[in-house]
Amino acid sequence: MSAPAKPTVIIIGRPNVGKSTLFNRLVGKKLALVDDQPGVTRDRRVGDAELAGLKFDIVDTAGWEDEDAESLPGRMRAQTEVSLEGADAVLFVIDARAGITPLDEEIGRWLRTVDVPIVLVANKAEGKAGDAGLYESFSLGLGDPVPLSAEHGEGVADLFEGLWPHIGHFEKEAEAAAAAAKEQGLDDGEDEEDVPLGPLKLAIVGRPNAGKSTLINRLLGEDRLLTGPEAGITRDSIAIDYTWTDPQTGEPRDIHLVDTAGMRKKRNVTEKLEKLSVADARRAVDFAEVVVLLLDATQGLEHQDLKIASHVLEEGRALMIAINKWDVAENASSLFNGIRGALDDGLAQVRGLPLFAVSAKTGKGLDTMLHAAFEIRESWSKRVPTAALNRWFDDAMEANPPPAPGGRRIKLRYITQAGTRPPRFVVFGTRLDALPKSYERYLVNGIRAKLGFDAVPVRVVLKSPK
Ligand code: GDP
Ligand code: GDP
Repeated sequence: MSAPAKPTVIIIGRPNVGKSTLFNRLVGKKLALVDDQPGVTRDRRVGDAELAGLKFDIVDTAGWEDEDAESLPGRMRAQTEVSLEGADAVLFVIDARAGITPLDEEIGRWLRTVDVPIVLVANKAEGKAGDAGLYESFSLGLGDPVPLSAEHGEGVADLFEGLWPHIGHFEKEAEAAAAAAKEQGLDDGEDEEDVPLGPLKLAIVGRPNAGKSTLINRLLGEDRLLTGPEAGITRDSIAIDYTWTDPQTGEPRDIHLVDTAGMRKKRNVTEKLEKLSVADARRAVDFAEVVVLLLDATQGLEHQDLKIASHVLEEGRALMIAINKWDVAENASSLFNGIRGALDDGLAQVRGLPLFAVSAKTGKGLDTMLHAAFEIRESWSKRVPTAALNRWFDDAMEANPPPAPGGRRIKLRYITQAGTRPPRFVVFGTRLDALPKSYERYLVNGIRAKLGFDAVPVRVVLKSPK
């Protein structure tokens, strides 16, 4: 049985909006490729893209404007027509910092006439500088813009949500084909969760002085092995590979640790430290499967910590919280419970995040924390069989049926797990735009609590059959 074709997505936009940067981010290449020589005719660049587990071919049209013709849209039209024919979606990129230019409007007018779904991407949207351009881009009449920072990797989750409705069905067809193959005995029956995972990609983030460097040094002990700045990873982040022996099982386990604290100290930074810890966290989550947010027992939980935590969750990473300096904690149990409560209030969408008390200084609690990190990665990576998923779904519908606004019931028919790392689910049904957010939360909470995804962010997309 042949696998269904992969979808093709084409990136379109005027020069300098960040098309190549986006292309590189989606195919996971390092940023250096952006500096292609101007004037050098580039071949059509096609890459294997992956976005939160969603796989597609991506076509970069940057450089096509080097051809001679009278107007840019004219040139692009000629150049892209061929690709558009085979494309399943277009990422139309604008520069949120520059705002909408006449050229953007022209390209937008042209794109409104083509018969391919368009996802409008407002790039360079990190920080506030992109806000105006973001709002302006609504005027293109191409739907809601997806705010993105291709350079910093922010907004990737939104991009996924934007693309999924247009190309997600490929994944479903692939799954259906796989299920059919399994039924006919063509599959070896190996479940995804049985596939061995590589070294645990772990990042430790937190405010300055939380104890990140101390913790990393403690974890590495004598075995510290610096692999140095690594290709494909942010210029200045440092990855350390080492092996940790789990005392609970005696098993050696490989860890790939992203050391953002060391990276910051190396850079001799003048930026404000508070801002920087958020930036560190942003970079770290790009490379991590599991992120440990380190708190300081002598400081408690602050707004800044919640901000970092939200970002980690928004980017779909598994998050653990560790209260460091437990050796000097006062009123330990009320401190622990206080932080537990403040976390649950501050991050209401993911109550019950795993919380640990540790001491980087004495080593207390660290083995327990690492053991949990491996377990959490497993649930972040696992797939629930469709039958079991729909058994839960039917029960959840029965216990609390969807509402019937205006007397007409919203029908939710079926759920499937579209992907892992982070776990993503698609619910198929009708009249979905009338479904209240509270009902979506009910489903997400159910998935987390009943299907073994308690510690990880879970995404649910609603979809009406075409
Ligand atoms: P292209 O001509 O559309 O392919 O644009 P490039 O990918 O070559 O990017 C043009 C410039 O914008 C480069 O200097 C990039 O570093 C910069 N750039 C790309 N993405 C971002 C972003 O998300 N934020 C910011 N601030 N700059 C970006
Ligand atoms: P970073 O800025 O997050 O990398 O924090 P550092 O690792 O530089 O630690 C900041 C301060 O906290 C240093 O003075 C450390 O010695 C201290 N510290 C770190 N971990 C612990 C701990 O578990 N217990 C105690 N008592 N102090 C710690």
